[in-house]
Amino acid sequence: MNINYPNTNLFINGEWKTGDGKETIEVINPANEEIIGNVARAKTNDLDEALSAAEEASKTWKNTTPFDRYRIMRKAAEILRDRVDPVGQIMTLEQGKPIAESKLEVSLGADRIDWMAEEGRRTYGKLIPARSGNIYQFTVKEPVGTVAAFTPWNFPINQILQKVPAALAAGCTIILKGPEETPASCAEVVKAFEEAGLPKGVLNLVFGIPSEISEYLIPHPIVRKITFTGSTAIGKQLAALAGSHMKLATMELGGHAPAIVFEDANIEKALKILASNKFRNAGQVCIAPTRFLVQDKLYEEFVSRMTDFADNLNVGDGLNPDTRMGPLAHDRRIEAIEGFVADAKSNGAKIHTGGSRKGNKGYFFEPTVMTDVPLSARVMNEEPFGPIAPISRFSNYEEAVEEANRLPYGLAAYAYTNSTKTAEAISKELESGMVSINHHGLGLPETPFGGVQDSGYGKEGGSEGIEAYLSTKFVSQSNS
Ligand code: NAD
Repeated sequence: MNINYPNTNLFINGEWKTGDGKETIEVINPANEEIIGNVARAKTNDLDEALSAAEEASKTWKNTTPFDRYRIMRKAAEILRDRVDPVGQIMTLEQGKPIAESKLEVSLGADRIDWMAEEGRRTYGKLIPARSGNIYQFTVKEPVGTVAAFTPWNFPINQILQKVPAALAAGCTIILKGPEETPASCAEVVKAFEEAGLPKGVLNLVFGIPSEISEYLIPHPIVRKITFTGSTAIGKQLAALAGSHMKLATMELGGHAPAIVFEDANIEKALKILASNKFRNAGQVCIAPTRFLVQDKLYEEFVSRMTDFADNLNVGDGLNPDTRMGPLAHDRRIEAIEGFVADAKSNGAKIHTGGSRKGNKGYFFEPTVMTDVPLSARVMNEEPFGPIAPISRFSNYEEAVEEANRLPYGLAAYAYTNSTKTAEAISKELESGMVSINHHGLGLPETPFGGVQDSGYGKEGGSEGIEAYLSTKFVSQSNS
């Protein structure tokens, strides 16, 4: 398939432009390691221009009625929806995921814009009964101001559409630092907003050296809020910087989701859902089931079925419609996953299938299933973010809860059981921002998404998602 991969420029104050200094960063197709294009690198002058544009645009965008914002956003959603095929192809070329997953991400992205466009029309204040007759007191929701958003490469469109529509619907202006590994699909979203008539300066897109950009934008007085999706380590650094400048922050960080399978579960269903979500996007998903905890009675069967599933997974170029798992997104991931496997092996883990890089061209890694992994192994403590499935056994409910809550992460957690009583109890006890029982039900536009503890704070999506970009003003007025 011959697809034209576009180079990506910066989008500042309504114009696509090269960066000051005209430097670029190469973009690589992870399926064959070929350079397919480049992305412009922003320098300080570009960031200053984006900041001024966002500040200026804020004066009108915050006073644009929610209904007028809604009309522009709905149009952008329609434009994006009409381009599911070409944008999906661009995403697979630069990110590697199977083409069906890319297309789904584009169309779900359009749904996210629709949801937040609607939600913007419901940012109600309230009238508060006063203590005396001549006082009129109420609250109104106001946009927090200019937002600096930082998004990663694993879901190039989804991650920005968890942030941008909510900020726009709230009346905020945005400077988005997109992922340098996957810039072109991200730019397609910005183009949809541009073509839909979003006023210049409301949404600005930059790329460059991530630390240079965040260190400049976060302390800048024009920026009032930051929102970041990425690793816990970087999230802690950025949250600390935001804190020292008293900036609002939403942090969507790493996870280490426990997936508990109780002995009364429907194993067929549990395996099918958990295995496909384990290897979706080659495991580079913050809510991927990570530690599989299976009760004694089902353990052997679960390990054997998971191994079969991994063995039969068609790994290859995501543009091939038969591919079920693509390459890892960049070379750093190969090194990281090899490290996790080597460490587990040296700690006595048994590898049932996989465990190695696949081929020597492209960043492919074999779907890997391992057991007998001690709790001290790195994969049982750090987010692997790759196609590795460590499976452990447990004997009773208390043991499962203890292991599930052992780590400081708390993003997603899964459980499979046919007992309503167990389902209710476990959903209460899991220390996690999101829990899904007997199915994989997380991450829809209308539902809140986000973690606790080391997985970050704040919610994206749902009606909670827009609150992150609103501030409540209280007004008390005496009429005499
Ligand atoms: P990384 O931590 O270097 O980068 C993760 C993301 O953060 C990237 O998009 C990167 O551009 C950005 N980033 C890095 N340093 C930054 C800085 N100083 N300022 C602003 N942005 C910065 O690691 P990586 O090799 O790209 O990815 C590896 C790890 O990142 C994974 O193991 C996973 O834990 C995490 N990650 C999480 C998510 C998620 O959805 N929560 C997505 C992608 C990566």
